[in-house]
Amino acid sequence: MTTSERQKPVFRFAPSPNGPLHLGHALSALLNRDMAEAEQARLLLRIEDIDQTRCTPEFEAGILRDLEWLDISWESPVRRQSEHFPEYQAALHELIERGLVYPAFLTRGEVKARVVAYEAAGESWPRDPDGTPHYPASDRERPADEWRDMLTSGKKHAWRLDMRKALDLIGELLFWTETGDGRTGEIAAEPDVWGDVILSRSDAPSSYHLSVVVDDALQGVTHVVRGLDLFHATSVHRLLQVLLGLPQPVYHHHRLILGADGRKLSKSQGDSGLGELRAQGMSGADIRRLVGL
Ligand code: GLU
Repeated sequence: MTTSERQKPVFRFAPSPNGPLHLGHALSALLNRDMAEAEQARLLLRIEDIDQTRCTPEFEAGILRDLEWLDISWESPVRRQSEHFPEYQAALHELIERGLVYPAFLTRGEVKARVVAYEAAGESWPRDPDGTPHYPASDRERPADEWRDMLTSGKKHAWRLDMRKALDLIGELLFWTETGDGRTGEIAAEPDVWGDVILSRSDAPSSYHLSVVVDDALQGVTHVVRGLDLFHATSVHRLLQVLLGLPQPVYHHHRLILGADGRKLSKSQGDSGLGELRAQGMSGADIRRLVGL
């Protein structure tokens, strides 16, 4: 890469190959392309396939086919997250060593049972913006030698960020610059609404939150353009960036394409993918119009 290439802004489209792309993805990819072109920027494609149980090479091949059909081009090589687990693990270990992350031993079922019991007693339990109950504090409050023994015994666990400790350490409000379709300007991050987020699971060495901030930094991404469904996740991303000493991109969260009944498009709900629209005879230009560009 030449020096002038290196100085250009960097955009990225980062789909997960766990299903076919639909119109919402098309809007995201086309906006990334249009905005990158307007800024004479580089455009990267990143395949976010950390969830190896749901992501497949077939879906990835479908994504490449759909993007080519939309006339979108990107730089090679494409970064595939499943090939970079050691980088995410290094970031996780840094946080573990600094005591900001703890091993969480409760299973999903155990957490659910606690929340149900609590709520049955008429108490309210905090939930994150996706509606998932916060993780109970019991592991966080376990003495370090106890969790060390549990780790040595090989008990399955995830690694969770100690949100309280992380926020105490930073001790100031965090902001991000937002240029998207919702609130814009300097947005105050509210990572605490997420509770102790998962950074790594027993069956996946990195979480979405951890790998996305590590990759955006490693790839020199300056502009993150993605759907408004990830607006609140940005609070966690800002916090991780500060904890790990990573630069902050500008964020642009765009409107979502909703189904006829007003809900977010999703393949599992039977919404047609781009491949199906192509098979019905639509062109890339038709898709641009359909997503309102
Ligand atoms: N991989 C995420 C998705 O497909 C997008 C992540 C991002 O753009 O930060 O929803």
